[in-house]
Amino acid sequence: MIYQDTIEFAQLQDEQDELRSFRDEFMFPKHNGEKAIYLCGNSLGLQPRAAGEYIKQQLVNWEAYAVEGWFMGNEPWLDYHKALLPSLSGLLGANENEITVMNSLTVNLHLLMVSFYKPTNKRFKILMEAGAFPSDQYAVESQVRFHGYDPKNAIVEVAPREGDVTLRTEDIIAQIEDNADEIALVLFSGINYYTGQLFDMEAITQAGHKAGAMVGFDLAHAAGNVPLKLHEWGADFASWCSYKYMNSGPGGISGAFVHEKHFGNDKLDRFAGWWGYRRDKQFLMQPGFDAEIGAQGWNVSTSPIVLMAMHKASLDIFERAGGIQKLRAKGDKLTGYLEYLIAQINQKLGEEVYRIITPEDQSQRGSQLSVVCRRNARATFDYLTANGVIGDWREPDVIRISPVPLYNSFTDAYLAAKALFKAISATGS
Ligand SMILES: *Cc1c(COP(=O)(O)O)cnc(C)c1O
Repeated sequence: MIYQDTIEFAQLQDEQDELRSFRDEFMFPKHNGEKAIYLCGNSLGLQPRAAGEYIKQQLVNWEAYAVEGWFMGNEPWLDYHKALLPSLSGLLGANENEITVMNSLTVNLHLLMVSFYKPTNKRFKILMEAGAFPSDQYAVESQVRFHGYDPKNAIVEVAPREGDVTLRTEDIIAQIEDNADEIALVLFSGINYYTGQLFDMEAITQAGHKAGAMVGFDLAHAAGNVPLKLHEWGADFASWCSYKYMNSGPGGISGAFVHEKHFGNDKLDRFAGWWGYRRDKQFLMQPGFDAEIGAQGWNVSTSPIVLMAMHKASLDIFERAGGIQKLRAKGDKLTGYLEYLIAQINQKLGEEVYRIITPEDQSQRGSQLSVVCRRNARATFDYLTANGVIGDWREPDVIRISPVPLYNSFTDAYLAAKALFKAISATGS
């Protein structure tokens, strides 16, 4: 696509955008009475306008049916999660029975590692990306210690080459091969939170399995952002949060994927609870855990209906928008436009003031651009915030900005780039 650095071009793209009406389905924070330029969907997605109604409906059901709400009404709570599965199945590329909705992300990583990280004295290592999100690092370190190993020997981190910021697939695979006899688990993010790099999950899964390891993914920055094919890739497990690109509210409910090849394996350990019990016998309240077949069998506790209602408010929008492929197609244009505008700034200045560390290759990224500010980084970020452009800050000098196809416009990208340009003189850099 040929881009132009003019507001008219941006407005024309917005007029021609068949997804433009979805912007009106979200609530924007305000700046000087206008919608802020919100480019922070990588951290917290905006509130669907209908979220309040979805919650209210459950309060009405609670009022009307009280305890019988589990079985009565148009959306009995006992099966409420089932209404989330069709759209999640499309977003994750998984069968409905391979997905469950429960807990929050780090909790789910722990629960899944209970099942899929089974170290032996010969095979005890976990391979992950260097610079993974801190919660994942803490989760992995504590799992390793829990099994009596030392994180120093048991965690293998794949780091970028000298001079690189992102990882090369060939290096990830080479390191899996080098540790083939000792790795029990490959645990990677789908998209790295800092650089925005989208990994080749299919290649990582194949290499991990060839090495005899289990393979799991943390899809916090990938779910609702890029198309995924967990089932086809053959990943063993995955988890994600719903409050980033899935717009389901702060601390919103997470989800987990378990590949169907594991359903018949009754040797898998798990930390069980009654919500993972066989549905047809759950209320017989018998001793001895008997897991529901499918990912649902990993549930532990009673469904948090209000969180699920917020999740549904957002997932229904994804459905109406026509699914993730369509959103990604707009997202690629939108992120490409912002990237182009930033390159224009550097060109005008004859200097790379803003260096994008996210891969240029669209097959290696989603909506996020991570921008290194080479002059007055923190002041630049503060200038953007003060002028109604909301991104987020990552030490020491990175601003993450993510134009999200569901609610951001080409005009947003244009105005954000103008603010980045003005920031240079405004911060005296
Ligand atoms: C956002 C994020 C988390 C957050 O985990 P919670 O348990 O929801 O707090 C974890 N891992 C990654 C990679 C993330 O991006």
